[in-house]
Amino acid sequence: MTFQELQAQIRHLAQDSGVAMPKIIAVSKTVEAQQIIPVLESGHRIFGENRVQEAQEKWPMLREHYPDVELHLLGAVQSNKLRRAMALFSVIHTLESVKQARRIAQIRDETQACPRLLVQVNTGAEVQKAGVSVEDLPVLLEEGRALGLPVEGLMCLPPAGEMAAPHFGLLRMLSERFGLEHLSMGMSGDYEQAVVLGATYVRLGTVIFGERHA
Ligand SMILES: *Cc1c(COP(=O)(O)O)cnc(C)c1O
Repeated sequence: MTFQELQAQIRHLAQDSGVAMPKIIAVSKTVEAQQIIPVLESGHRIFGENRVQEAQEKWPMLREHYPDVELHLLGAVQSNKLRRAMALFSVIHTLESVKQARRIAQIRDETQACPRLLVQVNTGAEVQKAGVSVEDLPVLLEEGRALGLPVEGLMCLPPAGEMAAPHFGLLRMLSERFGLEHLSMGMSGDYEQAVVLGATYVRLGTVIFGERHA
């Protein structure tokens, strides 16, 4: 499927389901610049990476030619990389703790700049997975508001081997309850369900760039 065909498919699916067309984040982790350039040349500007280091190696050079790229951080970020992440990314999808929110506010106060933020919710309550628990979400959102952070929505990664739709449904319910605009959900294997359930961002790697080898 070409990128244009993928866009058309998602547009039709959204129309048929009576939901708004989500934005596509082209997930370029492990993908070399040579393979990213054709997607940039087609006019697409929204890309996602899951590691700060890798993004820092690839994107400053690409941005010289395509300065209006909007880069999204999809992976967990350690506190010692937070400052770099905030300088590089337009949106961070993985806010997960009050402590991290406070650190972000501190850096924002120093630099007078802050990316848009989404909170990653551990909808499957998996011990090993990043994200805030559903129970702790209200406190984190409250802290974000108190700090004046631009928290705009929620993100989830359903547990492997489970049906994704109930997790997407839960995330949507939470976003409605807390009056949040954005829902980042759906990857190559499950984006159709995410679109139908109201995703505003889908994060697509494999369907755009092929299988990852790294
Ligand atoms: C890698 C990754 C994606 C994209 O996965 P695909 O299955 O290749 O579409 C989406 N979201 C996150 C958080 C990722 O790490």
